[in-house]
Amino acid sequence: MSIPGVDAQVSSDVLSDWHQSLGNAIRNPIELLRELRLESLADRFSKEAASQFPLMVPRSFLARMTVGNPDDPLLRQILPLNDELQSVAGFVADAVSDSSFRTAPGLLHKYHGRALMIAAGSCAVNCRYCFRRHYPYGDEPRRLDDWEPALEQLRADSSISELLLSGGDPLMLTDARLGQLIERLETVPHLKRLRIHSRLPIVLPDRVTGVLLELLTQSRLTPIVVVHSNHAAEVVADCEATLRRLVRAGITVLNQAVLLRGVNDSVDALADLSESLINAGVMPYYLHQLDRVAGTAHFEVDPAVGRRLIAELRTRLPGYAVPRYVQEIAGEPHKTIIE
Ligand SMILES: *Cc1c(COP(=O)(O)O)cnc(C)c1O
Ligand code: SF4
Repeated sequence: MSIPGVDAQVSSDVLSDWHQSLGNAIRNPIELLRELRLESLADRFSKEAASQFPLMVPRSFLARMTVGNPDDPLLRQILPLNDELQSVAGFVADAVSDSSFRTAPGLLHKYHGRALMIAAGSCAVNCRYCFRRHYPYGDEPRRLDDWEPALEQLRADSSISELLLSGGDPLMLTDARLGQLIERLETVPHLKRLRIHSRLPIVLPDRVTGVLLELLTQSRLTPIVVVHSNHAAEVVADCEATLRRLVRAGITVLNQAVLLRGVNDSVDALADLSESLINAGVMPYYLHQLDRVAGTAHFEVDPAVGRRLIAELRTRLPGYAVPRYVQEIAGEPHKTIIE
């Protein structure tokens, strides 16, 4: 499937702090392992995996890892390992096969009432379990006007009341570009809500600028931000403060996580994640079963284990703090609850 992207137009904005943080992200595995005093892990690191999908991790996220811990749950999400090179039956490049729902360039309309825009092709972090590792975002339209066919499509379908900005990561757009896009979306009369799916508040907290908060809270569209955190150790320090800022600005903030072996596949890890989120005012929304994407088999957790974890979570947490455990099944009219 081909994905259009509006590139971050760094040149048109004042170079803000978050662009600097992005520029300073670690891309060199030797540097990463040195910072964490884990030079001994070098033989599990895979150059080939990194050449397929490069290492990239912002320093704020690195700062939340534990020095000297080879099993750090945050490190495991971003370090290219030899495990990724194993080919495992059932794990394929295009695991979610979205292409039949593409109603215009960059627009997916799969579920009733909501459509999804692929607003940017890039991210601030490369998560090893991501479906994006095989996506050809490359040669797609980048200018604002290239969104006209998608906007036309939205205008023509009055059943759509919610627009999701996704990617890649839509907050890779500058505030200026995002503002222009939101302005155009506001001209579609039947759109009521704008939902932004982003991992940047987690991995690059300074992306949540005052201007961004203003864009979201001043819009006619009701804003919902869905962040993506997988472990309680992510929801600390500048990340926790940023989530609180979003919540206190009056924005509904939800979290989706992916159930990942070696990261959050225990009741304690999932309970701590939910506690950290709700303490910051963020509601756990989905816990996703891993999409079976080539190179990610070592992250898979058996759904029978996932079910048991969720059942145990229910005995420990308030009802609202237990995420819905879901899976994406092609052809279903909604995400499928695993129960
Ligand atoms: C997951 C998804 C949505 C959102 O689904 P919700 O259940 O409303 O969170 C919308 N469109 C597409 C294409 C999706 O994959
Ligand atoms: S932030 Fe999301 S889209 Fe980007 S690499 Fe990570 S999981 Fe994939």
